[in-house]
Amino acid sequence: MGTCDYKNCKKEATTKGFVVLREKDEKGNIKTADMHACDKHKNKDGFIEYVEADVKIIKGEWE
Ligand SMILES: [Zn+2]
Repeated sequence: MGTCDYKNCKKEATTKGFVVLREKDEKGNIKTADMHACDKHKNKDGFIEYVEADVKIIKGEWE
């Protein structure tokens, strides 16, 4: 899976998820960025761990 994507973290990533960015796209929808995280950073505020069934709802892809 590679290393954790958090700044200055060199630990092995254990999960994949995403963060919601402050900026919005041209349609005013939220933007997200996929990230890998280690055991420590997956519990950080703002990081949403991918759980297959919930991803579409969280990312607003229900249309
Ligand atoms: Zn980390």
